[in-house]
Amino acid sequence: MAVLVAPKALENLGVRDFHMLIDGAWVSGEGGRTLERVAPSHGITVSRYAQASAADAERAITAARHAFDEGHWPRMTASERSHILLKAASLIETRLEEIAYLDAIEAGKPLSQVRGEIAGAVDIWRYAAALARDLHGESYNTLGDGTLGVVLREAIGVVSIITPWNFPFLIVAQKLPFALAAGCTCVVKPSELTSGSTLLLGEILMEAGVPAGVVNIIVGTGPEVGSVMTTHRDVDMVSFTGSTGVGRLTMANAAQTLKKVSLELGGKNPQIVFPDANLDEFVDAAVFGAYFNAGECCNAGSRLILHRSIADDVVRRIADLSRGVKVGDPLDPLTQVGAIITPQHLEKIEGYVSGAANAGASVAFGGEAIRFGAGQFMAPTILSGVTPEMAVAREEVFGPVLSVLTFETREEAIRIVNDIDYGLSAGVWSRDFDTCLTVGRKVRAGTIWMNTFMDGASELPFGGYKQSGQGRELGRHAVEDYTETKTLNMHIGARTGWWMPR
Ligand code: NAD
Repeated sequence: MAVLVAPKALENLGVRDFHMLIDGAWVSGEGGRTLERVAPSHGITVSRYAQASAADAERAITAARHAFDEGHWPRMTASERSHILLKAASLIETRLEEIAYLDAIEAGKPLSQVRGEIAGAVDIWRYAAALARDLHGESYNTLGDGTLGVVLREAIGVVSIITPWNFPFLIVAQKLPFALAAGCTCVVKPSELTSGSTLLLGEILMEAGVPAGVVNIIVGTGPEVGSVMTTHRDVDMVSFTGSTGVGRLTMANAAQTLKKVSLELGGKNPQIVFPDANLDEFVDAAVFGAYFNAGECCNAGSRLILHRSIADDVVRRIADLSRGVKVGDPLDPLTQVGAIITPQHLEKIEGYVSGAANAGASVAFGGEAIRFGAGQFMAPTILSGVTPEMAVAREEVFGPVLSVLTFETREEAIRIVNDIDYGLSAGVWSRDFDTCLTVGRKVRAGTIWMNTFMDGASELPFGGYKQSGQGRELGRHAVEDYTETKTLNMHIGARTGWWMPR
């Protein structure tokens, strides 16, 4: 068993109330409905959000449409927009503790980890501010004396941004500043489970000088509000991060009006380990990859593909390290693995573990749910003897559960890795340059880490192959994603009509 850190009582903590942001005003939802968030670590209500209806979503879209068609934001210079994004980044930094606390208590994530996520978000806002000023098209002065071609990049228009609960503040930072940098206006819907920090972001953006209607933030459920955001004819693009199932539905909804769609979806990410790897470094990355964010991470390294000759030794060493992992109170500075997002999700994780055991896998470590009072947690878990056809080898468990598979040859490892529907990321561990590059080039995934795992930078594009998504976020093209391309084909001098002889 890992080290348990029982949650301390939350003293004098009231319920924090939030309104939604529509057209620059903080408003209640139609009919005054609210949604409440229960802290998954403590089992008590910590936030209450005004809940949007379909009509509220339409109001938010109308505000964004008006701000785009008539407002100042898309017509400002990029320099002006960039300065506002930089101011937002500084204000986020000023309120880092408040934002981090909210994400920790609503999502059950370790506070020390969330501080790093918010700092990462600040860096992304600053990167987007820099890219804003470099957005440009192309010109062709090579089309003959009579023609000049200019290719413009124009803001695509109104963007619906829909985000999940697992990295509430970081994921909206992978979308919103780039859309704003391009000159777009937005309707943002965070997960109804963790909306607080995105609503704080709304306050920050107003203070930074983002005009009314440019960013609208509504809280509500997917079927009621998300469906309006993905079907409404006044929305030009949908940027969605979440599960592959809802991503598929989003694409089908958006197809009704042929909106542009960007999708960041699930993963079942392998770490492939060869006998010549630095195993001391690898076992640490294995534990980090599997248990970081309680495994509720699209990039979780949830599949180990180990060379058979080292498998027993590696599993023993990972189990030894797992014994020292601290699970429990997200607010305790020592905690590494926090709470599981909902009781229903914990049941799903437990179902995967028992299903794997019934299918013939062995629970080499952990395997059980942990309940401290009214909070729900899952023990770091290692499943060995997993075979490629088992559900835990192919599906996203989204909990701190590591599935161990083995291989004999490099080709077999690549086959096992590629033979599932996901392709978000992968790790390859070997001291041999050829092995790393050959595997790295043949694995079908958007990010390949070599002798490391889950590193990243604002400069590096991120996204998935296959059913892990469509499009890329971050990187130097991230602002272009929120643009349309327009060609100006200009004629110089006398023109010969098609009916006249040339
Ligand atoms: P989810 O798909 O259940 O929900 C994501 C968002 O979609 C939420 O805001 C939800 O309210 C909304 N939604 C639900 N139904 C909708 C509908 N019919 N129309 C429009 N919107 C709807 O995902 P989740 O459980 O919040 O998050 C976990 C999933 O997100 C995992 O699969 C994880 O891998 C994925 N994820 C991917 C990335 C990435 O970058 N690839 C990052 C983080 C999370």
